[in-house]
Amino acid sequence: MQDSLHEAMLFTPLGDNVVKCNLCARRCHIKSGNTGFCRVRKNIDGKLYSLNYAKAIAANADPMEKKPLYHFLPRRTTYSVATIGCNLACSYCLNWSISQEKEIVGRYLPPERVVQEALSHGCSAISYTYTEPTIFFEWAFDISRIAHDKGLKNTFVTNGYMTPEAVDTIAPHLDAATVDFKGNANEEFYRKFAQAPSVEPIFESLKEMKRKKIHLEITDLIVPKYGDSIEDAKKLAGWVVENLGQETPFHVLRFHPDYKLLDLPSTPIKSIESIVKVARDAGLKYVYGGNVPGHSAENTYCPSCGELLIERWGFSVIKWNITEDKRCPSCGTSIPIVDK
Ligand code: SF4
Repeated sequence: MQDSLHEAMLFTPLGDNVVKCNLCARRCHIKSGNTGFCRVRKNIDGKLYSLNYAKAIAANADPMEKKPLYHFLPRRTTYSVATIGCNLACSYCLNWSISQEKEIVGRYLPPERVVQEALSHGCSAISYTYTEPTIFFEWAFDISRIAHDKGLKNTFVTNGYMTPEAVDTIAPHLDAATVDFKGNANEEFYRKFAQAPSVEPIFESLKEMKRKKIHLEITDLIVPKYGDSIEDAKKLAGWVVENLGQETPFHVLRFHPDYKLLDLPSTPIKSIESIVKVARDAGLKYVYGGNVPGHSAENTYCPSCGELLIERWGFSVIKWNITEDKRCPSCGTSIPIVDK
């Protein structure tokens, strides 16, 4: 078994062997011998180390639509990798068995091998996903540079709870990001159910990613009872229109009970439909329902004439009705799709 101890990026010594980690918005102050909130970054004698470097807990090919990225390399596959750990602790986490794992476990998978595996699976990209890529930043950074050299794209599926420095560092190698909001970005919801002190850093990361021209898609997990306010949804969609643009794909995700929130029902379809409508009314042109296989909200319609452009079922594209120069075949409206 390989030793996965690896010197961390983005930390500041504070004296007395204490360090400040600048990777995520928590900016943990860590004493020698201790780890940060995420449990995968440890101060050893005044130096910060990543404990989970190259310790893959998952590595497999997925459809790009699963990330979900609907407007970035559609119908392609992406090699999805993760380690254990997270900088949040969401009570409803679908991947809680790996995000909240306390032991550093996983298969040793150095960056070059990840890229080789991605290529051998015929993938067009590598996605850093399932758990929060910010907390396996060094591994993701090293993989992403090699991936670019080999012609592969890189995508993050992230909670966005990063620092601007982390965004700036990964930006030259990051082509797309799915940034996941939960509960319509309600502050109280984040504090109570995700153990995040504030939502503000997520908005700052998004603005920084936009400045760096990273393709962005937003998800919003609608949790019944606690995170399904129509007013909050209006505010969030309005913020996206104003700061990221009307063409930003926005995915309204259905919650299913998991981990500690087992007493709640799945989000009612009606609630998803209402929030999809609210987001469209706010001016967003590409709003989708997620985790609702077979629902028309999974499809892409032309925002000008309403023509059905892309029909989906779950993560599969079953009909493609866009011209080669990425326009609506009916009215000629240009459709924002990154296809290379
Ligand atoms: S990544 Fe975030 S949670 Fe982990 S040590 Fe750094 S600041 Fe703390």
